Amino acid sequence: MINRDHTVIFIMGTSGTGKSTIGKLLSKELSLPFFDGDDFHSKEHIQKMASGVSLDDDDRFGWLTRLNELAKNQLITNNCIIACSALKEKYRDLLSNGIEKNVKWVFLNGSIDQVHERLKNREPHFMPITLLKSQFDIIEAPNNALQIDIGLSPEEIVHLIKEEFLNKAVFGLIGLGVMGKSLSLNLAKNGFKISIYNRHVSGLEENVALNFKKEYDVLSDALPFDELEGFVNSLQKPRKIMLMVNAGNAIDMVIENIIPYLSEGDILIDGGNSNYIHTKERFDYLKSKKIHFIGAGVSGGEEGALNGPSIMPGGDKDIYKVVQPFLETIAAKDENNLPCSAYIGNEGSGHFVKMVHNGIEYVEMQLLAEVLSILKATGNNLAQISTILKSWKLGSDSYLLDITIKILRKKDGEDWLIDKIMDKAGNKGTGNWATIAAAQLGVPSTLIASALFARYTSFYKEDRINLQKKYGKEHIGLHLDLLNDEVLNAYQFSRIINHYQGFNLISEAAKTYKWDLNLSEIARIWTNGCIIKSDLMRTMVAILKETDNILIDESFVKQIKSLKPSANHVISQCIMNELAIPCFSEAVNFLNNFSTANSTANLIQAQRDYFGAHTYQRIDDDTEKFYHTDWK
Ligand code: NDP
Repeated sequence: MINRDHTVIFIMGTSGTGKSTIGKLLSKELSLPFFDGDDFHSKEHIQKMASGVSLDDDDRFGWLTRLNELAKNQLITNNCIIACSALKEKYRDLLSNGIEKNVKWVFLNGSIDQVHERLKNREPHFMPITLLKSQFDIIEAPNNALQIDIGLSPEEIVHLIKEEFLNKAVFGLIGLGVMGKSLSLNLAKNGFKISIYNRHVSGLEENVALNFKKEYDVLSDALPFDELEGFVNSLQKPRKIMLMVNAGNAIDMVIENIIPYLSEGDILIDGGNSNYIHTKERFDYLKSKKIHFIGAGVSGGEEGALNGPSIMPGGDKDIYKVVQPFLETIAAKDENNLPCSAYIGNEGSGHFVKMVHNGIEYVEMQLLAEVLSILKATGNNLAQISTILKSWKLGSDSYLLDITIKILRKKDGEDWLIDKIMDKAGNKGTGNWATIAAAQLGVPSTLIASALFARYTSFYKEDRINLQKKYGKEHIGLHLDLLNDEVLNAYQFSRIINHYQGFNLISEAAKTYKWDLNLSEIARIWTNGCIIKSDLMRTMVAILKETDNILIDESFVKQIKSLKPSANHVISQCIMNELAIPCFSEAVNFLNNFSTANSTANLIQAQRDYFGAHTYQRIDDDTEKFYHTDWK
C-alpha cells in the first residue's frame, strides 16, 4: 500500500503531541493496523512509572526490542503504524534494527509551550512542566523523518502523511547518462519508488526521463521529470537526491538550480567522480543553506551501477545513516554477503578514496598493458597471450585481468580488434588529481604518477613515430628471453607495490585531514562491484586489519622476497631490449629505494645547504639541531 515494499510508519514525538490520535486516524484512513507503543510496556515498567519514577535506558531496551519484533512480525504480511515517543537516535536505531529499509518516521513537532497547553487540557494525563521539559531536553531531532507541525489539525496532519507516503517517491536521481540510468534501474528493481530527472535542452535533450521510463517495465512506478521544481516536490522529505552528472561545473550548476526548491534537512549525494577538495567546499556551502551533502564515490562502471557497484560515501555519519538503506541495497555484495558500501569518513574523504581507487586502477591497467608488450616481445601472438593470461587467473585473478583476456580475444572481421585501436590513452582527471594529492601530501605514490605519465606519453603519437625512426628502434624487444612465470611474478610483485602505495596514500591523507578511515573496510568494499576487485584485494582485507603498512606483513615480506628476483630479471631484460615498462620498473626502483636504510639524500641536503643555506641535520647529533656550513 505504501510504495511497493512493506512499511512500518513510526509516529514519534514527546508526550502530548497527539501520536495516538494521529496513529488511529491514519490507521482508519489507510486500513492498516495501529499499535500504541505504550501498550507494550511490561507490568514492572507500568508500576515503576506509576510510582513516579521514569524509565531508564536499560528498561527501555526491552520495550523497544519488543516493538521492533512487533514491527518485524507485521512486516511479514502487512504494513502497520506504531506510535512511540522514540526521542533519542539510539531508541530509533533499536526500533528500526534490521528493517531500516522498511521504516518511515513521522515526527510530530511542537514547542514546549504548545505541548504543555495541550496537556493541561487533558486533565487525567496532566504532566508537570518539569517532566515535560526533561523530554524536550533529551530529544534528538531525527534526520530522516517527515516533520509535521502539531499546530495543524489531526485531519490536516493525516492528509499530509498520506500525500507524502502514498504518492511521493523515496529517492531521486538527477542525470540520466550512462551511470544515472543504470543506478535508476538498480534502485527500481530493488523495490524503491524513484523520481528521475534529466535536464531539458530544446532540440537536443527532450523528455529524456519520460522516454527512459517508457523503455523499462521496472520503471513503471518511477516519476519522470525534466523540470526541477516538480522533481523535488515529488520526493518524500527529507529528500534524498543523487546527482549523477559530470564532475566540475555541472555539479555546481545543478546545485545552484535545485537549492531554491529544497527544504531544510534535505540530502544531496554527489555520486560522480568529483574532486575531494570541491566536495568539502560544496559540503560547507550547502551546510550554510541547511542542506546536507554526501560525496560518494561510485565504482563499477555501467554494469556495476546496474547490478551492484562499490560505493564510497563521505560526509556526516548521521546523515549517511539516512541514505544507508538505499546505498547498501543497491551495492554489490562481498563474499560474506555484506554490502560493498560503507561509510568512509567525513568531508570529502569518500571522493578522496574513490580518487585513489582510480589511481590504483590506472596502475593495474598500465601493468597489464606492459605485460602485453613483454609477452608480445617474447614471441607470443594475441591468442597465445590470452591463453597465458587465462592461466594466471588461478591465484592472480582480477576483474581487469578477466576483461583483458576478453579484449584480446575480440575479433574485428578477420583481424584482432585491439590491433585497430589507436594507442592514445585518455583520462578523465582522477589519476591526475591522485598524483597532485600525493605530491601535496608528500607521499611517494610513484606508480600512480608513472601510470598517469604513461598515458600522457601515449598521446604524443607523432613524436613517438618520429623518434622511433630517429633512434633506430626498429627491433624493440627482439632478444627478450623470459619465462612466462617470471613475467607473472614481476606482475604480481608490481601489483603488491601498487596496493601498498595506494593504501599508504589513503592512510597519510587520513592523518593530515584527520579523517578516521578504516583501511580494511575500504579494501572490503573493493572486493566486489568495482574495477579493482581481485584475489589480491581479498587478501588485503585481513592484513589491513593488522597493519596500515602491508610491506611489513610477514606473509607479504615472504611473497615479495620470492617474487622480486623475477621482477629484477624482467625489468633488466626489458631495459636492455629498449622495451618501455614504466610501472614495472618503477615498482622495482621504489622498493629498492624504500628498503635502503642509508640513502644518498645526504648529498641532496648538502647541495641544498651549499646553494641555498637550507641547513641540514647530522647523524652524529640526536638533538635534531640544524647545521649550516660555509662550503667555499
Ligand atoms: P554521462 O556523460 O553519460 O552523463 C552525464 C549526465 O549529466 C547526463 O545526464 C547529462 O545530461 C548530465 N549533465 C551534464 N551537464 C549537466 C548540467 N550542466 N546540468 C544538468 N545535467 C547535466 O556521464 P556518466 O554517467 O558516465 O558519469 C556521471 C558521473 O559518474 C561522472 O562524474 C563520472 O566521472 C562518474 N562515473 C562514471 C563512470 C563510468 O563508468 N561512466 C564510473 C564511475 C563514476 P544531458 O544528457 O542532458 O547532457
